[in-house]
Amino acid sequence: MEDKKNSDIQRGRLENISNVEIMTDERWKAIINNDATYNNKFFYGVETTGIFCKPSCKSRAPKKENVRIFLTAEQALNRNFRPCKRCKPTNENLPDNEWITLVTEYIDKNFTEKLNLESLGAIAHGSPFHLHRTFKKIKGITPTEYTQHVRLNAARKYLIETDKSITDISICVGIPNSTYFITLFKNKFGHTPIQYRKLHRLMDKEEE
Ligand SMILES: [Zn+2]
Repeated sequence: MEDKKNSDIQRGRLENISNVEIMTDERWKAIINNDATYNNKFFYGVETTGIFCKPSCKSRAPKKENVRIFLTAEQALNRNFRPCKRCKPTNENLPDNEWITLVTEYIDKNFTEKLNLESLGAIAHGSPFHLHRTFKKIKGITPTEYTQHVRLNAARKYLIETDKSITDISICVGIPNSTYFITLFKNKFGHTPIQYRKLHRLMDKEEE
């Protein structure tokens, strides 16, 4: 009797599994095989990028631990995921400015990592060329320039607020070649990182 009850519960679970927002082996297989027969049965979002897709999406396979399952596109939108530009899970085009916001947010959070046009394109589900062109149209600068801008501003903060060495700072902000870092910094702010730190500390002293 008890066994029958248990197996009923188990069967119930299996039958209902397609109505629950969880990752199953079946769904994971559908994602990595870009299986279109699962389209509209579920959607998946990737935590690290904030993008959600149809199972058939041909974008780079995500890391399983970063994937969230949704049963409807609305659920994904309600959780602040944005529709993928490539597979269009809401069947509408993602407006360019929203797409670029997504990319800038990603850069803001991940500028310490290795980023280039190729990897950003893959992350944002678009071709590097299209990303470059659209980014420039919306922001007036290229994704590479934007990334540098974020990195150098972070460096400026480290110079003012910490005693980290220039080499450490260059690594911390994602420009591990410190000679190149110093050149970029000087071009942007008119002083080398060392000069910048000294000047800033001098100004602080005068204010006291
Ligand atoms: Zn997609």
